[in-house]
Amino acid sequence: KQTKQGWNVDNSYASLPNALFSTIKLNPVQSPKLLIINDSLSEFLGLDSEALQRNEGVDILAGNQVPEGSVPIAQAYAGHQFGNFTMLGDGRAVLLGEQITPQGKRFDIQLKGSGRTPYSRGGDGRAAFGPMLREYIMSEAMHALGIATTRSLAVVTTGESVFRETELPGAILTRVASSHIRVGTFQYVSARGDIDDLRAFANYTINRHFPDLEAEENRYLALLNGVIKRQAKLISKWQLVGFIHGVMNTDNMTISGETIDYGPCAFMDKYDPKTVFSSIDREGRYSYGNQPYIGGWNLARFAESLLPLLHEEKEKALNLAQEAISGYSKQYQQDWLSGMRAKLGLFNVEDQDEELIESLLSLMQKAQADFTNTFHALTLNQIEGTGLSCQREFNDWFDRWQARLGRQQESDSDSKQLMQKSNPVVIPRNHKVEEALAAAVDNNNLSLMERLLQVLSNPYDYAKKNDEYMKPAEPTDRPYQTFCGT
Ligand code: AMP
Ligand code: MG
Ligand code: MG
Repeated sequence: KQTKQGWNVDNSYASLPNALFSTIKLNPVQSPKLLIINDSLSEFLGLDSEALQRNEGVDILAGNQVPEGSVPIAQAYAGHQFGNFTMLGDGRAVLLGEQITPQGKRFDIQLKGSGRTPYSRGGDGRAAFGPMLREYIMSEAMHALGIATTRSLAVVTTGESVFRETELPGAILTRVASSHIRVGTFQYVSARGDIDDLRAFANYTINRHFPDLEAEENRYLALLNGVIKRQAKLISKWQLVGFIHGVMNTDNMTISGETIDYGPCAFMDKYDPKTVFSSIDREGRYSYGNQPYIGGWNLARFAESLLPLLHEEKEKALNLAQEAISGYSKQYQQDWLSGMRAKLGLFNVEDQDEELIESLLSLMQKAQADFTNTFHALTLNQIEGTGLSCQREFNDWFDRWQARLGRQQESDSDSKQLMQKSNPVVIPRNHKVEEALAAAVDNNNLSLMERLLQVLSNPYDYAKKNDEYMKPAEPTDRPYQTFCGT
């Protein structure tokens, strides 16, 4: 059944109720050219990366041919965008199906930027080269940091132009996800009001992502709790590395707990909870410090979409939903605290830990200390590197931290090891990402991007010196700004 490139595709989503998707006839592109391919991800998926780079392989990554077994579809979904409910759907993406890996796992294979679909509304269904490369870099960096995420298999250029403010080269990204089911997909099905469809869809989701919950007495409540748990864990991990998603609309929140939709995301440099990079997020709804709260808001929308399944009686369903949602902030706080303890080399739990952590963060905020480099410096005991060393308050904090370390059983070297695993040396610095993208897009030079990907693939390697990739950007009077993926 496998093809030459190793494709072993099934599309189980296409057997769901019809309202959930539209079948698509792909639009071929003029002259597809493979720009980058992810060898280790190919191997994991059971694909032959050499074969993917040859004619038929590239044609599939460009949507000019479909692999055997594929039923190309666009998925319907809805979502709250900056708080406003809208009907959406894959407007510029096509799901080829699920690749079944040699280990028997299913992963969605989606072409992003492959042309118009019934959900495109006014859009052209296409994507520009720069943003697709940017998604490739950011998603692979997140994966290497140990954060659940969609992955990037390849980018091909189409040989066609897309028109934004200027004319740009078009490209298609092959995105890999354990599924593309979103909070917004549930909102879409629920809003249609057909409870049989909603139940069928929830059952499909449970089977795919939470098979252990099938035996639960109230499996839909268990699904809600499972998603709450995964999202609490995910968002805590974002906070712990300074990742700002930038557009946490409910359609950009997965049920699987994977980070999805790398449009305006970026990593924070100076520690400041108010940090926002996205040009359209004028009120800071999706600022660094607001992400945990918005996670809870989105999950409440998820709970609402499940209400008809939670209990036959409305009142009881509401109570169950509310109780589950109130568990989110507790779960998040617990995940975040244990992650912060690890960043400070702490193994056990003391009541004052939260206060110790908050004091450090507030000193960092006052000193505009670099988030990543401060924890890196603490890991190496290079206190000058924190930018905090000349503050008396910091010296007091440092003494308190040392005393706290002294009150646990683990040795100094155990602590340092824990810190090295928890505090990355390198993150995708905004100026290094932009530099690599400019070389690729403007000069057709992919060497900077390849080097950046190489460095980012090992973010916790304390043996390598990576000064060039560690330095924050030189201060400018123009703050870094990001735009929704175009
Ligand atoms: P996003 O901001 O990427 O989460 O996308 C929000 C919605 O807009 C989704 O339904 C996308 O499919 C759709 N969309 C984004 N860009 C385009 C485009 N160029 N053409 C058609 N639809 C698009
Ligand atoms: Mg989206
Ligand atoms: Mg997007």
